[in-house]
Amino acid sequence: MEHFEALIVGAGPAGSFAAELLAKAGVKVALFDGRPEGEPKACGGGVTAKALKAWPHLLNAVGRTVGELEMYSPSGKPLHLQLEEPFAIYSRIAFDLYLRDRARKAGAEIFPAKISARGIRRTQNGWTLREGAGASNPKRLTRPAPRAAGCEWSGQMLVGADGAGSSVARLLAGRLPPSEMEVAFGYRAPLPEVGESPAVIAFLPGWIGYAWAFPRLDHISFGIATTQEAFEHQPLDKLLWDFMLGYYRQREDPKAKLWARRQSDRGRDHRIREKLATTAERYAARIPGLSDKTWDTRRVCGEAWALLGDAAGFADPVTGEGIYYALRSAELFAESFLVQTPLAYEERWREDFGRELKRASQMRRRFYGNFWGAPFTERMIGFARSHRGIKRVLGDLVAGEQGYVDLKKKLARSAMWPV
Ligand SMILES: Cc1cc2nc3c(=O)[nH]c(=O)nc-3n(C[C@H](O)[C@H](O)[C@H](O)COP(=O)(O)OP(=O)(O)OC[C@H]3O[C@@H](n4cnc5c(N)ncnc54)[C@H](O)[C@@H]3O)c2cc1C
Repeated sequence: MEHFEALIVGAGPAGSFAAELLAKAGVKVALFDGRPEGEPKACGGGVTAKALKAWPHLLNAVGRTVGELEMYSPSGKPLHLQLEEPFAIYSRIAFDLYLRDRARKAGAEIFPAKISARGIRRTQNGWTLREGAGASNPKRLTRPAPRAAGCEWSGQMLVGADGAGSSVARLLAGRLPPSEMEVAFGYRAPLPEVGESPAVIAFLPGWIGYAWAFPRLDHISFGIATTQEAFEHQPLDKLLWDFMLGYYRQREDPKAKLWARRQSDRGRDHRIREKLATTAERYAARIPGLSDKTWDTRRVCGEAWALLGDAAGFADPVTGEGIYYALRSAELFAESFLVQTPLAYEERWREDFGRELKRASQMRRRFYGNFWGAPFTERMIGFARSHRGIKRVLGDLVAGEQGYVDLKKKLARSAMWPV
């Protein structure tokens, strides 16, 4: 059995980045991922300007940078945002492969293996991991050499970077209740045949959450993110179809409304719907959305183990953004590990972004709640349409540069600068 200094389960952004940083410093790292080749992680793939500034090499991954964003209030009022700093949209196949490749080049050994939760054992020297019987998915068979179930690896440090449904986290930090998960689902659909393909975020009429259209190089990712409590499959799926229809309709007729109640051109809508019905691929997954209290009580590292990214619960409870936190937690963990103080990781993530994410979960209800008799998001878009300052704050929020801790203060102060 091969012995490693670090065993990292999950090669999403968190696991691959941690593997790269540790391997680069000479640590013997094994990185495992059980996802069938060519199967993307369900994700919008949006990476904020803040993340691109922190790790400019991300721009080398094949993706699309976006300098403009169309936003819509719940009642359908549009707001065009010219972003001072662009964000990027990636296919998660391309993005994950890019980061995994960097880990490999840095010296990490990568195993296409799904680690069985029951196969994780503590030993005197650390841990042993066993591969689960994962060859049931036929796509796995396209791999060059699928392993037989039962391979084992040993190592000193166990890192759980295995996403929102993390079995490593369940074992070491306890299961999160379903109420602390957000739901996101959507469709990958073809790029429009006519017109531009703008990036769109539309706050939902009558529901918590928002819909997005994120154009990638060869398709668009449409989706809705909402809370577990608010999730109702049928009406939300219908809402997403209306949104997709509105998106393509606007490409053909720029004057068309996004959420059209009355159909002005039934033939066109029927044609778009038919095309989507045969081309759109559905996806769905959870995103952690920790409650205010859990931010205080949850521990994400201990003697010879640590959790990163979604496995740790690190996603923005208002927007569901998690890629930045996956990468940042990987970096903070790697830095702590490399100076022989792995337990300092707990304090470091709390200082770095923990307070902000806790504040976001306190804000969630208000962000999607009412303000002066209308949804807060309606007011925010409405004010931004007539106040340059508020528009700028909104741009910073999209860029990941505006936190929630001082959001209210910033919005109030910015209202002093009318257009
Ligand atoms: C629909 C949707 C849309 C989203 N859109 C955005 C967005 O636009 N921008 C953004 O910032 N965030 C978005 N998120 C959140 C984002 O996807 C996650 O926060 C991010 O991927 C977390 O990275 P990670 O590395 O922690 O986990 P993941 O990306 O989930 O990676 C975990 C990896 O572990 C592997 N794995 C799991 N179990 C095992 C096992 N037992 N053995 C081996 N390998 C295992 C998986 O195959 C996977 O590759 C979205 C989430 C969803 C669900």
